[in-house]
Amino acid sequence: MSIKNNLLEIKKQLPDNVTLVAVSKTKPVKDLMQAYDCGQRIFGENKIQEMAEKQLKMPKDIQWHMIGNIQRNKVKYMAAFVDLIHGVDSLKLLNEINRQAEKHNRIIDCLLQIKIAQEDTKYGMQYEDALALLDSENLKGLKNIAIVGLMGMASFTKDKIQIKNEFETLKNNFNSLKEKNSNLKIISMGMSGDYALAIDTGSTMIRVGSSIFGARNYSK
Ligand SMILES: *Cc1c(COP(=O)(O)O)cnc(C)c1O
Repeated sequence: MSIKNNLLEIKKQLPDNVTLVAVSKTKPVKDLMQAYDCGQRIFGENKIQEMAEKQLKMPKDIQWHMIGNIQRNKVKYMAAFVDLIHGVDSLKLLNEINRQAEKHNRIIDCLLQIKIAQEDTKYGMQYEDALALLDSENLKGLKNIAIVGLMGMASFTKDKIQIKNEFETLKNNFNSLKEKNSNLKIISMGMSGDYALAIDTGSTMIRVGSSIFGARNYSK
């Protein structure tokens, strides 16, 4: 299957309210351009420097999403252009994003990453911490960031029931937090292996890599 066919196949299945982020980490610009040439404009990367290099080389109407774990000292390399940061899990990180966004006179949209997986390898905040953060006075002072939703990653397992339960947890967290904070609009959940399940459970944004671009090779 070609990148083009893969992409069209996935898009056919997407309800109108679900946004597709094409996760292009480790892939060369020529692969991304194939997706671009069939209309894809949102790309997700998990390394800030890799994203910044691709951003320089590619058309300027692309929206770049940072989906990986973020080192605070690297925020400055993406602050000029990043459209959405998915993996925000602390006030400290928000402070730095705000500081860098201010330098560029921008407001950067962020998602709070909630830990929904059983494994301890997955990053993210507990629901209670997200609630406290959204309520905090500190947050009100940050004029150059906007928290617009939540992101989560399910456990790496074949157990569909467990995955569905984890997605439901995120959806319920979202509904509760949205009652207090009407800026929340996005639920980023679902990857190649589980996006259909995620959409059934209320995802509004899926992050799909290998089903579009093929398996990743980390050995290079
Ligand atoms: C790599 C990655 C994806 C995409 O994974 P695939 O299984 O290749 O679709 C989605 N979200 C995050 C946070 C990732 O790091």
